[in-house]
Amino acid sequence: MIDLRSDTVTRPGAAMRDAMHAAPVGDDVWGDDPTVARFEAAVAERTGKAAALLFPSGTQSNLAALLAHCQRGDEYIAGQQAHTYKYEGGGAAVLGGIQPQPIAHAEDGTLPLAAIAAAIKPDDFHFARTRLLALENTIGGRVLDAGYVAAATDLARAQGLATHLDGARLFNAAVATATPLDALCAPFDTVSLCFSKGLGAPMGSALAGSLELIDAARRWRKVLGGGMRQSGIIAAACHYALEHQVADLACDHRRAARLAEGLRALPALEVEYQATNMVFLKVPEAHVAPLQAWLAERDILVELLYATRLVVHRDLDDDAIERVLEAFTDYFTTRTA
Ligand SMILES: *Cc1c(COP(=O)(O)O)cnc(C)c1O
Repeated sequence: MIDLRSDTVTRPGAAMRDAMHAAPVGDDVWGDDPTVARFEAAVAERTGKAAALLFPSGTQSNLAALLAHCQRGDEYIAGQQAHTYKYEGGGAAVLGGIQPQPIAHAEDGTLPLAAIAAAIKPDDFHFARTRLLALENTIGGRVLDAGYVAAATDLARAQGLATHLDGARLFNAAVATATPLDALCAPFDTVSLCFSKGLGAPMGSALAGSLELIDAARRWRKVLGGGMRQSGIIAAACHYALEHQVADLACDHRRAARLAEGLRALPALEVEYQATNMVFLKVPEAHVAPLQAWLAERDILVELLYATRLVVHRDLDDDAIERVLEAFTDYFTTRTA
């Protein structure tokens, strides 16, 4: 099966499973799991933050961060397409009484500085208190420009806002731009990282930040039901990914570029763009259902109905990419013949 629906589908390999098997564990709610402690220390070091905390999912990590930064009646600024706004069930509003202030993305995925500035409310009881700017990197596969990140976070700080980065795929950004992770994290008070996407762990995210914010997030993690016991088994997988699988993301990026190049040869398709491990397509409406079915018959899974996005990951090799290109080409040759 060639699964291009997401990089979340990656499965832990044998060496990662060995690391999980061998991990010493304890009860992490009591602070007793040495593998979790070692992993959290490694994440703190790699992100250049004082502390880090393991979460079962990125959604929970982001939510705990929003709850740590904001009180009831506060608001956070995020993009219309941001995971923290659009894909987390409205958690901050549901559970925290925190209002999102979504703003439209520019073509390149950034939130325009003028739009951020305009969305920050004056201190007036008519308004929610604007408390936090939340950015996402990568966003739709695209790496945020470092100059832009500096300008946006400077603007936020100058207005007294805290800053959070949803860095679910920040390792992709680091590898794509050959930038150390801590440099990408430095402009932000908190950063959430996913280990269960392109990095291949079965589950696990981490939130990094100051001691004070991570303490607050630890409290919220417990409230959210994310206090885990012998979670060293998960931390071991995440730690293995951190140490051994980050550099492999470069292969995903190279393969995504090859996939985009091959698809651009098909006139019936529009490749909108390729960035890091993602290829975004415009598929003519009439082709969506039959193309998806055609690919499924050839053991290729895509999700063209929901987001016309193909995601390349470590469970796909060069041959898989060529098979996908062949299947797309055969489909359009047959249809237009
Ligand atoms: C996947 C993802 C998350 C976290 O998702 P979970 O499925 O809860 O781990 C957060 N932000 C972005 C941008 C993501 O892609």
